[in-house]
Amino acid sequence: MSINLAFDREHIWHPYTSMIDPLPVYPVVAANGCELELENGQKLVDGTASWWSAVHGYNHPALNAAVTEQLSKMAHVMFGGITHPSAVNLCQRLLAMVPTNLTKVFLADSGSIAVEVAIKMALQYWQGKGNKSKQKLISLRKGYHGDTFAAMAVCDPVDGMHGMFNDVLAQHYFLPAPESAFGASFDSKAMQPLQQLLQQEHQQIAALILEPIVQGYGGMRFYHPEYLKAARALCDQYQVLLICDEIATGFGRTGKLFACEHSQIQPDIMCVGKALSGGYITLAATLCSDEVADGISLSDAKGLMHGPTFMANPLACAVASASLDIIATGQWQQQVAAIEQQLKAELAQCKQGPGVKEVRVLGAIGVIEMVNKVDVAKLQQRFVELGVWIRPFNNLIYVMPSFIISSAQLSQLTAAMAAVVLE
Ligand code: PLP
Repeated sequence: MSINLAFDREHIWHPYTSMIDPLPVYPVVAANGCELELENGQKLVDGTASWWSAVHGYNHPALNAAVTEQLSKMAHVMFGGITHPSAVNLCQRLLAMVPTNLTKVFLADSGSIAVEVAIKMALQYWQGKGNKSKQKLISLRKGYHGDTFAAMAVCDPVDGMHGMFNDVLAQHYFLPAPESAFGASFDSKAMQPLQQLLQQEHQQIAALILEPIVQGYGGMRFYHPEYLKAARALCDQYQVLLICDEIATGFGRTGKLFACEHSQIQPDIMCVGKALSGGYITLAATLCSDEVADGISLSDAKGLMHGPTFMANPLACAVASASLDIIATGQWQQQVAAIEQQLKAELAQCKQGPGVKEVRVLGAIGVIEMVNKVDVAKLQQRFVELGVWIRPFNNLIYVMPSFIISSAQLSQLTAAMAAVVLE
């Protein structure tokens, strides 16, 4: 039976689109390895890994087996007053990978919720420490942390997509986006705004939240590790927690297991998601240190006040454990290094394209920044004609493929990107 596209168009919202004048959608009926199969049988090389998540590719035998085996035992059970092997196994694996100071895990149901929980942790921590004036956060311009309300309140309020909600969002402090690029020289003057803000307002500030090294949906910007290192030091100096949002960067994407490792720092609170469950089932986690957990337990509520119905869903936890087992083999290191090298070599020609502002690559992320916004529907159609799935936004044409992509498939992606910017 064919997919009823007219029904879809009339009744179903897709991400960030209008119900009245939606962007076209493409009917996908199967996905294998790094390929999406359209209803008409056409196969597209996937450059998105379904928004950074499917790092091991689609229809992976080990991940399929993990879900199937768990399904034969139980699909779901509440987490209040109950635990299960699926959650315990996952958290053991996760804690063995993350920065060593992080010892406690809260399993959340999406990246945005993991950010909500991180913010709650920071606020409750300071309440527990008897410092109730610390209720504000610092965030960075060009930052993106999700679409729920607390998360939107720490997204870029001007250039981000949630500006129309500014009047109802919690008001926080925003600093200029880090200017020194990854790989360029570092200008320490960039730390002055943070230094000044902390000096003046630290008694009101609970935490600094940022995406380490890669600012994703706020512009696909790669910034200098010294910025993060200096920010960590300033947070320590002024008694402000550091929240690293590793939802997009975690599990090898930038060439390090976690992007904060580029700066050799440890956050007080860290969010992971996306690749956590290998792109199979929605799952995220917020991790924190003993110090943060101890502070929270001293707060009026004592417990951490969050507990979604589908918390620690056993199917999601089982597939995430299997995904982390693959990550733990360390194979991603060679895969990401090879992708990085190939992206650098093959995208370099795109710098000559009319309207191209910059081409940049870090780990398994390749970005062509255009001077002007692109016509998403038109480009998307062109990419499908060229046999690839690449989804641009604003002025960015970018790929972050599965780590298992073959060299030939990656060349198909870069050739398509070159074709659209050079033609
Ligand atoms: N934080 C970052 C850095 C992200 O890139 C995203 C999603 O793109 C989120 C948070 C929100 O995650 P989710 O879409 O799972 O809610």
